[in-house]
Amino acid sequence: MAFTLLFDGDDTLWANNHHFERAIERFCALVVGGEWTEQAVRDELDRVEEAAWHRGGAGKDAFGRNMREAAAGMVLPGRLPAVLAAVDAIVREMETSAVALMPGVVPTLEDLGRRHVLGIVTRGDPAEQWAKIDGSGISNRFTHIEVVRDKDEATYRRLVAAWGLDPATTWMIGNSPRSDILPARAAGLRAVYIPNPSTWRLEHAELDPADGGVMTLAAFGELLGAF
Ligand SMILES: [Mg+2]
Repeated sequence: MAFTLLFDGDDTLWANNHHFERAIERFCALVVGGEWTEQAVRDELDRVEEAAWHRGGAGKDAFGRNMREAAAGMVLPGRLPAVLAAVDAIVREMETSAVALMPGVVPTLEDLGRRHVLGIVTRGDPAEQWAKIDGSGISNRFTHIEVVRDKDEATYRRLVAAWGLDPATTWMIGNSPRSDILPARAAGLRAVYIPNPSTWRLEHAELDPADGGVMTLAAFGELLGAF
């Protein structure tokens, strides 16, 4: 049976979060001091990022704005200009346009593409995400590609309608319970969860173990046995 397989980009097709993790380590080193332990700094940055989730979009620029806002609440006013300049340097030095595909992606897509229709649904800054899609060398494998501002139920319903898909035979495949699995299920799609240890803390969410519409795989290459 032919399915439509929609893939998440960041940390599913290519590694991404490690760039942000390294930047957060540098940010912590910059801001830490007094009551602001490393854990407290991380928690505060998470709080700002969560508050900005829907309004701020996603990507490097949004992340930079969030670090600046978090820093403003943690460092003494006299130090702030120097800290903000250092934050801007951290963002500038993030090498997010260097695309490193996850293991097994190329041969797996080549095989799956013979039997199924493939798509990419990735959340983030359009220019940044398209640079990764174009730089991945695999974009010609996909019939449908869209960079979305938010991955919620309405987004999946809109794409299903726009691309003329049948939800019953469409699967969303990704590493994020919050963005890939739960909203796709809410829109009537089935989903494949491929956990990635380098998943952003804010992307975690509780999955229902009794939900038969979600398949969990340990690695990208296991898709071949499933489809
Ligand atoms: Mg992802």
